[in-house]
Amino acid sequence: MRFNFYGGASEVGRSCIEVDKRFLFDSGLKISEEGSEYPQVEDLSHIKAVFLSHAHLDHTGALPIFNTIGLRCSIYCNSMTRETAKVLLKDSYHIELLKKHHAAYDRDNINNVVSFMQNVRYNKSYSVDGAEFRFLDAGHIPGSSSVLLDMGKKRVLYTGDINSSDTRLLKGSSFDADDVDVLICESTYGDREHPDRKAQERDLLSSIKKTIDKSGSVLLPSFAVGRAQEVMMILNDRDFGVPIYLDGMAKKVTGLYQKKPEYIRDNSKLCSAISGVSYVKDWKHRREIARQQGIFVTTSGMLDGGPVLDYLGYLYHNPNNSLFLTGYQVEGSNGRLLMDTGKAYIDGNRVRFKGNIKKYDLSAHSGKSELLGFIKRIDPEKIIFLHGDSTAIESMRKSTEGTHEVYTPKVGDSINI
Ligand SMILES: [Zn+2]
Repeated sequence: MRFNFYGGASEVGRSCIEVDKRFLFDSGLKISEEGSEYPQVEDLSHIKAVFLSHAHLDHTGALPIFNTIGLRCSIYCNSMTRETAKVLLKDSYHIELLKKHHAAYDRDNINNVVSFMQNVRYNKSYSVDGAEFRFLDAGHIPGSSSVLLDMGKKRVLYTGDINSSDTRLLKGSSFDADDVDVLICESTYGDREHPDRKAQERDLLSSIKKTIDKSGSVLLPSFAVGRAQEVMMILNDRDFGVPIYLDGMAKKVTGLYQKKPEYIRDNSKLCSAISGVSYVKDWKHRREIARQQGIFVTTSGMLDGGPVLDYLGYLYHNPNNSLFLTGYQVEGSNGRLLMDTGKAYIDGNRVRFKGNIKKYDLSAHSGKSELLGFIKRIDPEKIIFLHGDSTAIESMRKSTEGTHEVYTPKVGDSINI
């Protein structure tokens, strides 16, 4: 069986693996300073099915451009992933247009790939082109899945992005799978452990309280998918006595979660958190509320666009205000710049945020020891490590090569197993 690594190998972003010249696991794009980078492949007309692990653009963002190079097959995912991907793909197209005036695909390509999406449920077996497959709950974002593909001779388990710890929004992943020959495993945190989650949440809440007590406002840049909802649920633990606002694409995604409570760990807790929050209607409303004290949860999580930049403009000059980052800040992002230098760009102008800045770890990925525990439970014969930087992947290789046959491919590599 042949595996081709078109993207996401020895890197994070544009995940795309071809199996046996028939199937694809994910079709992602990588957003970098140079623009969007797509998986390195020229023709996909031979592909019989795509298995989508989850909606994040680094796993789905290449689908429209793949449609322009012959992808015409069923794309299997659950209904949560389909609805979320629809929102993200349309937003991504909009951003491409803003940046480049024309994208490499158009709206029809997005509509095409959405129409190819076939609904699957967790833990149910399906078949396509002589192979059987099953989606298993990966605990990363609502709808996220690992995919078990049984090709008759070999059984392949693709983790997608996986989290085995419980969060407010989701139960941690805990599925089992027998007789796995090849495990394709994400390695995002392959060289690190997460700090204690409860302690991070307590620390965040007490930092917010301190800011409010000195009459400051709090800006919480958050990813729209999963993180903003998690942050609202954490905020719901305390009454700060000031209004909490939700802004940006997170509003739309929260609406999707309310429509599909079966994908949420405890829907009543999410509803309770939402009822304590006001939605920001438009830029006029934003301007009005940002002049008064409040807590603002908004996209984008890495400060690369979206309403967060308006809030930054309103809040940066007051040393009593705080900005707390709630997610990973990739190298080269505006949020990373802010984290490293205290300064960030608003419309081309660099400003210094005068108040307190701190980053909290509310990650939706397994840490190293959780990944190792998962590998021990599945006990595959061979492991392919992907979706991590070189240090993370090397660290996972060192920890597993004594007991397993380990592969750490790069983009463009092929492996025969
Ligand atoms: Zn993800």
